[in-house]
Amino acid sequence: MPIRSLFATQIYTATLGSTRAAALNRQLLRESLQLRRDDRAGRAWSRQNYPGGYTSYNSLCQLQRISPSFARLEDHLARHVSRFARSLDLDLRGRELAMTDCWLNIMQPRVVHSLHLHPLATISGTYYVRTPPGSAGLKFEDPRLERFMAAPPRAVHARTPNRSWVTLPAVAGQLVLFESWLRHEVPPNASRGERVSVSFNYSWF
Ligand code: FE
Repeated sequence: MPIRSLFATQIYTATLGSTRAAALNRQLLRESLQLRRDDRAGRAWSRQNYPGGYTSYNSLCQLQRISPSFARLEDHLARHVSRFARSLDLDLRGRELAMTDCWLNIMQPRVVHSLHLHPLATISGTYYVRTPPGSAGLKFEDPRLERFMAAPPRAVHARTPNRSWVTLPAVAGQLVLFESWLRHEVPPNASRGERVSVSFNYSWF
């Protein structure tokens, strides 16, 4: 058909598939649970701002600098981030994309993470450490939504690229990368166990 797809929104997903990555994942899980025990300030902040869940976002937000395991995760992520940046044709003006923040999220059953974006970052993403059955995925919103005005809704069975919201499943060992301006949320977590993930920002300045 004579149709072009322009201004596409790219999202990158990959699996850290090696045996080394599996061992790293087990270590990240152990440390994550320990960090929550140790991080009193984070637990207090989460009670106010992340009901039912725990995040180190406001207390330990540069885990790659304080933990060799999270630093190893950063090493694993590097080639994926640069591959994604190449796919986006980003002109970084000779600068490097660097991990500026890296924090931990533990979601109990029914916990939500409401719609947001990551200002002041270039590429953001999440790596899934533990995802019991039923774990909520990551739901992205069409960035053009506020301009649709009189546009009709999309058909129930619309093809994925035409949908206004797309949810990518959360799978342990997988990572997802997106441009930081893209709004996203985690819908109510339907797993019976805790969903554990690590989120991060990369910036070019
Ligand atoms: Fe986010």
